[in-house]
Formats: sequence, structure tokens, C-alpha cells
Amino acid sequence: MNNSDASVRAEALESLLIDKGLIEADQIDQTIALYNERVGPMNGARVVAKAWKNADYRKKLLEDGSKAIEEFGFVGGQIDKLVVVENTASVHNVVVCTLCSCYPWAVLGLPPRWYKDPAYRSRVVREPRKVLEEMGTVVPEDKLVRVWDSSAEIRYMILPELPPGWSDLSEADLAERVSRDSMIGVEILGAV
Ligand code: FE
Repeated sequence: MNNSDASVRAEALESLLIDKGLIEADQIDQTIALYNERVGPMNGARVVAKAWKNADYRKKLLEDGSKAIEEFGFVGGQIDKLVVVENTASVHNVVVCTLCSCYPWAVLGLPPRWYKDPAYRSRVVREPRKVLEEMGTVVPEDKLVRVWDSSAEIRYMILPELPPGWSDLSEADLAERVSRDSMIGVEILGAV
């Protein structure tokens, strides 16, 4: 199904649902606006920036991700159990959902297309380094690569390593530099 097929189907579904009185047009608009403007990787980036700046918060976040993000009041659901794993000098982590496309919406927004791709889902488990390389990310040989399989119950987010040279930036500036892909583990921040 190509993009235009998909949008025609979406429009057809929307008008059916409205015709049958199941939803109203403005509910749909509100939901789209919500995911465009309020739910997205900028939320996760704020969490990461805070953890980089604040050692106590970092500890809390790694111990209990769901609890640690409560203070941000994120909306968007699908976040019953958030587990945050940190990249370190010796371990690089990457997230997948091998079964479908479970993803921490409230902190990362809508999953990218490739995350739902059967090729990514099956291959990143078997040959993570190779898949990461194909995505432009070379993990140093001396690092262990660990793959985390998200599910409906547990959704993972990566706490990236603070890149060299970023430590003097403010929390707000850091948050602007944290990419979605670095929080899935398919990008290493500050890498050239
Ligand atoms: Fe899934």
C-alpha cells in the first residue's frame, strides 16, 4: 500500500466513522494536533537532558522510568511501564519490538516507519551491529551491543551517553540536541 492509498483509506475511514456518529471531526483534529504538537521525541529529549544535568534524577530514571517521568505530566498513553537503559563506555543499547511495534509514545511520539518494518524487527536482534551500520551508526568494537525487545507491558527508552563537549550546555540546549533515534539506540549523538 503506498502513501496515497493509505491517505485515501484514512479519509474513507474518517468519513465512515463520522457518518455512523462514532466520532466527530474535531476529535480527529484534536488527536492529530496532540501528536503533532504535544507528544513527540521532544518529551523524551527533556527527560534525557534532565538526567544528564541531575545525577539524582538520572538515578531515579534508571530505577523506575515510569515514576521518574510522572513529574513531566506527559500525555499520550502507552507508557504503563517505561524502562530506561543507559548507554555507557562499555555498552550500547538498542530497542526493537520484535512482535509488532510497541513503543513509548508519551516520550517518543509516533514510531518511525522503519521501526515497524519486519526487516528491522527481525534483523536487529540477529545482527544489530550490521543493521546499525546500515543506518549510519558504527558502534565501536569494544562495546557490547544489547538489544531490548519492547512489548505491550514494557517499553524501553535509551539514555544516550553525553557526547564529549556538551557538558557545558544548558538543560534546554541539551534537550534540543537529543534526537529521537538516539533514544531508540540507532544513533550515537555527537558522532561524526
Ligand atoms: Fe509491539
